[in-house]
Amino acid sequence: MEPDWIRSHGLPAAVLGDPLDHTLSPPIHNAAFRQADLPHRYHALRVSSDRFESVLRSLVDLRFLGLNFTVPHKEAVLPMIDRRRPEVETLGAANTLYWEEGEPVLANTDVYGFRKLVEQWTRRIRTGRVLVLGAGGAARACVVALHEMGAGRIYLWNRTDSRATRLRRDLGEPEVELLRDPIWPLSEGPGLVVNATSLGLSPDDPSPYPAEEIRSDLAGVDLNYGHRTTFLDEFEARGEAGRDGLTMLLHQAARAWELWTGREPDLDSMDEAARQFLDADS
Ligand code: NDP
Repeated sequence: MEPDWIRSHGLPAAVLGDPLDHTLSPPIHNAAFRQADLPHRYHALRVSSDRFESVLRSLVDLRFLGLNFTVPHKEAVLPMIDRRRPEVETLGAANTLYWEEGEPVLANTDVYGFRKLVEQWTRRIRTGRVLVLGAGGAARACVVALHEMGAGRIYLWNRTDSRATRLRRDLGEPEVELLRDPIWPLSEGPGLVVNATSLGLSPDDPSPYPAEEIRSDLAGVDLNYGHRTTFLDEFEARGEAGRDGLTMLLHQAARAWELWTGREPDLDSMDEAARQFLDADS
């Protein structure tokens, strides 16, 4: 997409979901548009499943600058758009629509966002020292990202075994070893534990990982964000606490913004807008 075209058209962007309470996407994307002096604005559009296809078709017809999808549309959008990036095919879910050669294309930028969250532990990941807790949509994005990063082996635990088995099957049987308990499986060497469960959505939630099993050479990252989680507190006290899910959220948004505008957004202004929004919301 040419920058001149982008600069001269104030086309809007939007996230489509239902419900859409407390979404951080409008403040962070709008902060980046303002900082870059671009005329676009980003809107939150609450769209129910029965209206989703007709709304999507209209926004594509109107040539919206770009779209994001959240629950419950991330999977439903796939059969509606012909061009899809490889990670969308693997995951079976898309969170972004952008334009390439005049055609709408689906992408999943959660995979990129997660890679940025854990990039400092690439060595541990490559040597097969990573445990993912959870088997929902977020855990799927983690497994695909870890695989892209060259993970030798991925350990995975989920409360419901059948969902973990399904994840492995759906993702084409990558090197994933399913565990019975949410406990680091190796006796020595450093490791990384990822909380991709929704235990942590509320600040009072317990951690899915037993505190007494945290060794000093284990680091923990949490996909939850917006407040300190018990999971990260316990890793900070006994091992090493990495960043929370805000880093992943900002990078997945930055990647979508880049696909829409052809430019790199100013991450600091996105981060500041996110923190202001979270402070006002708490
Ligand atoms: P899903 O609803 O798809 O999956 C939820 C997962 O949490 C399942 O594995 C579920 O296990 C597990 N879980 C729920 N309750 C418990 C419990 N009491 N004990 C143990 N496990 C539990 O959600 P997502 O995968 O989409 O999201 C997971 C978390 O990641 C959410 O909190 C979400 O906010 C966050 N997230 C963050 C992103 C970011 O950019 N930072 C992006 C996407 C998600 P079971 O299968 O047994 O029900």
